[in-house]
Amino acid sequence: MFNGLLIEKDDQGYRASLQQLDKAQLPEGDVTVKVQYSSINYKDGLAITGKSPVVRQFPMVPGIDFVGVVEHSESDKWQVGDKVLLNGFGVGETHWGGLAQYAKVKSDWLIALPESMDGFSAMAVGTAGYTAMLCVMALESNGVTPAKGPILVTGANGGVGSFAIAMLAKLGFDVVASTGRVDQAAYLSELGASEVIDRNTLSEPGRPLAKERWAGVVDSVGSHTLANACASTQYGGTVAACGLAQGFDLPATVMPFILRGVNLAGVDSVMRPIADREIAWNRIADLIDAELISKIATEISLDKVIETADALLAGTVQGRVVVKLD
Ligand code: NDP
Repeated sequence: MFNGLLIEKDDQGYRASLQQLDKAQLPEGDVTVKVQYSSINYKDGLAITGKSPVVRQFPMVPGIDFVGVVEHSESDKWQVGDKVLLNGFGVGETHWGGLAQYAKVKSDWLIALPESMDGFSAMAVGTAGYTAMLCVMALESNGVTPAKGPILVTGANGGVGSFAIAMLAKLGFDVVASTGRVDQAAYLSELGASEVIDRNTLSEPGRPLAKERWAGVVDSVGSHTLANACASTQYGGTVAACGLAQGFDLPATVMPFILRGVNLAGVDSVMRPIADREIAWNRIADLIDAELISKIATEISLDKVIETADALLAGTVQGRVVVKLD
């Protein structure tokens, strides 16, 4: 038996609770992992609270990412004792996820924990930090360089935002952080932001084209914020769109795209091919250090996950929350 968070949906409604689970209940998979750490991402918040139909099968163990040690393997790829990492592939949505002490998954979904990274740091980064790196890679592959001008990061105090700021700053970019919590400017400056702006300047309906400011944008917010970010991106600049914290709508015009050649780069982390994941995770391992992780991440135990999921969706969590399972 082991401890896990279970989401159920039946005549009594939608609910998440801590439960004792049996290994025999684990889903199909050729690798069993003893989970060390998982984390709470925005999507986990939606799944645990039931605020959005993220979970597609019930009962479900949430947790879209985890790190742990292989306990049993029917695959040649992984041996008992290997340190492995998983994020996405529908784990925590259609397949039992990481917010339990054991997970059974497909061997193809796992990657090796980078040599220089410990388990806590990997989940401090988690899906949010990995997605931030995919956004950085989208800017780079569209020719955005530090010499081209400042990068706007929206949702700055969140998980994607915090890591985007820190990694872009380490890569030499001038980073402008947009936040609803301007009182947290000191935290954002410590991560590497050179300027902090109030998200209200971006979150209301704006003009089709505004003053050209950003060479690139990492947007985890969507809606009017994304539209205004596109409208104020420089000629030939790139906007990496990965999130919907303000909304999934995109009330924009084509003007930035047809008059300024702005690129809108969509970023999905869930089904990203393994080769890209390995590149992203190894680049993250090169950029992060213990000091950065201690600024961004806090650790909780499994019994604090439900209340933390509420706080995350209320926008009161800063940085990343790591859940200790072993
Ligand atoms: P967090 O909750 O950690 O961060 C979201 C941040 O967005 C908040 O901290 C807040 O920052 C800002 N925010 C919250 N509500 C609003 C609002 N109403 N209007 C404007 N800004 C708001 O979430 P994550 O960083 O984990 O995820 C961010 C987004 O990215 C989510 O929408 C998530 O679904 C998406 N995502 C997508 C992935 C993909 O594969 N495409 C993968 C990972 C995440 P502040 O207080 O500084 O304003």
